[in-house]
Amino acid sequence: MNVKFAGLDIGGKNFTVIAGPCAIENEDQMMQASHAVKAAGADVLRGGIYKLRTRPDAFQGLGRDAFPMVKTAKSKTTLPFLTEITSVSQVEALVDIADFIMVGTRNMYNYDLLKELGRVRIPIVLKRGMSAKVEEWINAAEYIARGGNDKIILCERGIRTFETATRNTLDLAGALWVKQRSSLPVIVDPSHGTGIPALIPGMAAETLAAGLDGVMVEVHPMPSAALSDGAQALTTEQFADMMVKLRVLGEVCGRPLTSPGSKA
Ligand code: PEP
Ligand code: MN
Repeated sequence: MNVKFAGLDIGGKNFTVIAGPCAIENEDQMMQASHAVKAAGADVLRGGIYKLRTRPDAFQGLGRDAFPMVKTAKSKTTLPFLTEITSVSQVEALVDIADFIMVGTRNMYNYDLLKELGRVRIPIVLKRGMSAKVEEWINAAEYIARGGNDKIILCERGIRTFETATRNTLDLAGALWVKQRSSLPVIVDPSHGTGIPALIPGMAAETLAAGLDGVMVEVHPMPSAALSDGAQALTTEQFADMMVKLRVLGEVCGRPLTSPGSKA
């Protein structure tokens, strides 16, 4: 079923673009990223508030200190906002500040969290677990749906395989398989799916051409200074360039981008 929310129809005719920094780091970084993705025509702004990092000494996100920055970015750009939930205890506060809640790869199997998100009334972007079979991913979505929330968007973000040249192995075929067998919109995250900026525009184009419903990409005003996932972040210029190409491809494929962007 399409997810109609915040003026968007995800899973409908248009191709949806979600973009922004991996993590919100400070007001300047968030505002620069937000303005740039809005100008290039993104539909949804992303930004991590709570980060689940592999190393405990890595930046864990600003937590509640990011809330005022989110409010400013939302009001200045008028974009809906997406962020990741990492604990059941965050549900109330995040429903209040976010328009889309993301379940990250590490929590796809957190059935208590999924059941709790079945009770909220905003869309859930459910990432595929890094070792999850597509059937398990669909079943995870069913946990949310059974609670009464039918606004679910699946997001392929790459899986673990023997291959280490890319950060993960982006399973576009698996994403398309799910798209053709479930009624849910399916989007792709080529940032985590590849870990390599030079591969992201190509994989986003493949996603669009394959008939999938959108992409989520990480954008940072200065990737070399990023506190998380800088190595895979697109610069604001690289993102704008990718959007120009996706716009053309979208017209050719009958999957137009939704927002013209202020520079179009
Ligand atoms: C993210 O989108 O920043 C993220 C943590 O993604 P994943 O859960 O796919 O690693
Ligand atoms: Mn990230």
